[in-house]
Amino acid sequence: MSNFFRTDEKKIAIVTGASRGIGAAIADKLGALNYFVIGTSTSGYGKSEGVSKWIKVDFSNSKETENFIAQIKKLESIEILINNAGINIIKEQKDVLNVDFDRIQKINLRVPYFLSSLIASKMAIMGGGKIVNLSSIWSVNSKINRTLYSTMKSGINGLTRSMAVEWASSNILVNSISPGFVETELTKKSLTGQQQDEIKKQIPMKRFAQPEEIAEMVSFLSSNKNTYITGQNIIIDGGFTIV
Ligand code: NDP
Repeated sequence: MSNFFRTDEKKIAIVTGASRGIGAAIADKLGALNYFVIGTSTSGYGKSEGVSKWIKVDFSNSKETENFIAQIKKLESIEILINNAGINIIKEQKDVLNVDFDRIQKINLRVPYFLSSLIASKMAIMGGGKIVNLSSIWSVNSKINRTLYSTMKSGINGLTRSMAVEWASSNILVNSISPGFVETELTKKSLTGQQQDEIKKQIPMKRFAQPEEIAEMVSFLSSNKNTYITGQNIIIDGGFTIV
């Protein structure tokens, strides 16, 4: 293997946005399963102890993204890609600016699209692989001031389905996870404490998810145990969307 850094021959998993929250929990899980985890963050470091190699990249910056893609191109074999990095911009539609649209589109949709394309091509040569995309319940439902977020996350579901079809014959399984409310920085930024308490009352399980509860399903879908689930969007929301 002519990878550009030592992997000790471990299988490689890439987790974008591994510095905290759901991405950190996924990286911890995959690291514990003995993967060589490449994690990205805008600072080049983060909370997860499961990450073996950090890459610093801000996906809203085209130059940094190009450099990141150039590094990934040098890798020969990648078993798992987790498109997790994401932001939310909460605004009334009439207040959304081009700059808002471009920023969230780059981070939440454009990078997952082109990174998945590059990595699927590599996986196909190596006999297959797994891609899991972090979507959201707001990809299938929506909420006031979420036009940008819902648009991008619906795009992720479309990417998941269409890639699952296009790459099935190369043994690449592509799925998305749609969490409801998870206790992370993103949730704290998006909702006041009072809003969080109100929402918890509406969730049948009366609590938010922990990042590890999302990571469990990501780990299963990206493992060898998953041999036939592809093109699906799995909702993990404590029952929020069924009531
Ligand atoms: P956090 O805000 O806690 O973490 C986001 C991660 O994405 C961080 O690692 C962050 O890196 C990275 N990131 C943010 N901006 C950029 C950028 N410009 N370029 C590169 N990386 C960036 O989010 P969560 O863990 O809550 O969310 C993870 C995913 O799950 C997202 O896609 C989100 O939309 C989705 N999700 C989350 C839900 C929730 O309730 N929390 C619910 C449904 C979906 P850095 O540390 O460097 O900023």
